[in-house]
Amino acid sequence: MIAYLEQQHDFVHDNDTTLDGTIDYHSTLIKDFGGLHSTSPFAVIRPSSTAIHFASHSPTLTVTARGNGHSINGQSISTNNHGLLIDMKSFTLHDVVLSNNNTTVDVNGGALWEDVLKSCVMNYGLAPRSWTDYLGLTVGGTLSNGGVSGQTFRYGPQTSNVTELEVVTGNGETVVCSSQDNSDLFFAVLGGLGQFGIITRARVVVQPAPDMVRWIRVVYSEFEDFTRDAEWLITRPEGESFDYVEGFLFVNSDDPVNGWPSVVLEADQLPDPSVMTRSDNPVMYCLELALHYSKENCSSTVDTMATRLLERLRFMKDTLFKVDLSYIEFLLRVKEAEKQAKANGIWDAPHPWLNLFVSKSSISDFNHFVFKKILKDGIGGPMLVYPILRSRWDERTSVVLPDGDIFYIVALLRFTNPYQKSPSVRDLVAQNHEIFQVCVRNGLNFKLYLPHYNTKEGWKQHFGDRWPRFVEMKSRYDPLAILAPGQKIFTRNNIGE
Ligand code: FAD
Repeated sequence: MIAYLEQQHDFVHDNDTTLDGTIDYHSTLIKDFGGLHSTSPFAVIRPSSTAIHFASHSPTLTVTARGNGHSINGQSISTNNHGLLIDMKSFTLHDVVLSNNNTTVDVNGGALWEDVLKSCVMNYGLAPRSWTDYLGLTVGGTLSNGGVSGQTFRYGPQTSNVTELEVVTGNGETVVCSSQDNSDLFFAVLGGLGQFGIITRARVVVQPAPDMVRWIRVVYSEFEDFTRDAEWLITRPEGESFDYVEGFLFVNSDDPVNGWPSVVLEADQLPDPSVMTRSDNPVMYCLELALHYSKENCSSTVDTMATRLLERLRFMKDTLFKVDLSYIEFLLRVKEAEKQAKANGIWDAPHPWLNLFVSKSSISDFNHFVFKKILKDGIGGPMLVYPILRSRWDERTSVVLPDGDIFYIVALLRFTNPYQKSPSVRDLVAQNHEIFQVCVRNGLNFKLYLPHYNTKEGWKQHFGDRWPRFVEMKSRYDPLAILAPGQKIFTRNNIGE
């Protein structure tokens, strides 16, 4: 069959199609960032819509668009050796192009957000409004999930910040869609876990890029004070709050990875030891904030604004850490951590991460059962927790949210160290299951973000009353279930209910 595919090499030089491409290589073991699953796809190919036509004429072939492979649970690798893997990053038909009177830019589905940032700021002085914390992710990959960070409270997730998509559906058709035209497909694809089509182009909303950012962290010993302040900040009108609001918890110890040292923004900022021993809570909470400003608008303006807002917050005295940096440096802040993690070998080790959206009504229970008990010793990586406003999400997309006007993103970003004695990956995966089960047993209102289930029953429960619509869209746009089998929602040729 491989020989047959190679014989068909010409079929991928079809310039009439949006996704032009070539066979790259095959039978290589492919992993994702999670490092928990691997597979040898039938072939890895450069983008080609012809791949979809080809797969639909075979009884078993599937097609997976691989962004940067930063999924955790095998979502961007094919489930078996009957898969064609499309390397979206190699797909650069055009660069970032201004559109709509300079209010949007058109970008490739396989573009990395860090490249979009640099191109927008350097060429046009503009920038997208809504980001992820880490920008080594592709446009199509985050739009297939949501795309959240500290700007989401104001502008919504990345799925709320695109006005048009070009999509190659599972039928092999190239369709331009928006909230006005082919809106069914537009909303299905956003947060659609790659099930309905391959995003080849996105029109992303932009605004003037600020020059500078004041990055601030303050610490709380009480969760109630932390959530009260975070919720106050995210419900203030624009211009009367910070431009970025996130938060995380850490262990109340001097452990370099899990403890107080993870809070400081510069190496010489470690707080007075008396501050660190003032609370006997096992975990503490850090609110992470940022204010944008321009170079001309000298630092006294940002000082005044920051002081006015910080005065209203109830963080612990002497726990304010701040640093000023350029907007690009701020948005690329995780890149530095990536470099260090690559240098000490933990970037390529497995990452059994767990991401959840937890309703405001359940976040206090989550703190009690999970943060203060199961995770009281830390996880060897960041434990993010911060609130988001539901009103900034478009309920017509495929993303599934918990109940309530406010919900929290909880991101347990575990790093394993192959060179140190640490819990096994299997134990960490088991702990993720335990957290999920504790939430279910205690009736917490939550949904998985970047969801992952192994059974159809799990998916049905995840989607709840939105499941029939999801199935209907699948039967309309990918009736043979060719696309993104790594999500394990549908099986090839069998959508079923
Ligand atoms: P992949 O993992 O390659 O693909 C993800 C899914 O989307 C797969 O099913 C794939 O088939 C499908 N897909 C990929 N490209 C396309 C396309 N063009 N069209 C249709 N389907 C496609 N998420 C956040 O929201 N906020 C964060 O701050 C954040 N930080 C992260 C930091 C790190 C270090 C990592 C590893 C992940 C982070 N994520 C974050 C999660 C990230 O959004 C997901 O991993 C997402 O899948 C994007 O990664 P990717 O581009 O590599 O996509």
